[in-house]
Formats: sequence, C-alpha cells, structure tokens
Amino acid sequence: MLQGLTCPRCGSRNIAIVASGSLTYKCLNCGHTWTPTVQGLGYVSTKAGEIHWTELKKLAEEAQVNAHKALNEGVRDCDALIKRLQEQYGSYLDTREIIKIALLSVKRYMEEVRYRDPQLFNELVRELERCRKLYHGS
Ligand SMILES: [Zn+2]
Repeated sequence: MLQGLTCPRCGSRNIAIVASGSLTYKCLNCGHTWTPTVQGLGYVSTKAGEIHWTELKKLAEEAQVNAHKALNEGVRDCDALIKRLQEQYGSYLDTREIIKIALLSVKRYMEEVRYRDPQLFNELVRELERCRKLYHGS
C-alpha cells in the first residue's frame, strides 16, 4: 500500500501500516515490523502528496465504512465496489489496499446477512471468491 517502500528483510512491497504509538511498518509477506528512521515526522507519501500516517489510517477506516454503506445500498458487484472506493480514495490508498478493504467489507457484510438472507449470502460467497482472485492477482 505504501509507494516505494520495501521490506528490509525480504524485499517484499506488500507493506502495511500498523496502528501503534509511533509509525510502524509491517511486511505482509514475512511479518517483519520496523519503524522508519528517515521519516521521523510520520509522513507517508501517496499519489496526493505527503500525508500523516494517522490520517491515512483514518481514511482507510472511512473507506471501510463507505464500502459497508455501498453494500447496504445494494452494490453487490465487487468491481463496482472497488471502483467506487477508487474514486473516493484512489489518490491516497493504492489499488491493493482498496481491494483489501472491499474484500473485508464483503466478508463482514456476509456475516450480517448469513441467517437473515441465505440467498444473498450465497450470492456474496461467489462475489467474495471473485474478489479474492482480484486481490491475489494484483
Ligand atoms: Zn518481509
């Protein structure tokens, strides 16, 4: 999710921010965590420019809420959901992160409708599978 950042241990670009007292990065590939020494201020560079990591975290949470709202409004299509998030948060969150948020939102929504609407649940199972392929293919 963070541009130009690689894991110092394994070189993976699959890096996430961990919410803790100070800015901490976590490699999603090998699990290594570290604190950047250069950006002491806690700013992360995105397409839209430098942004503080707490703001970025907030945006990711907001994206999650919006994804849930979209599902509630009847958006069932994974691509539509991702496109919507991309339009709103594409300048801050990268595609991989957005797909991850969409995936998580569908998963949560599934649990909500599981017993209330089994047909919808099944529909979402298929959609989630599609979403997963997108996530792992990118
Ligand atoms: Zn790593």
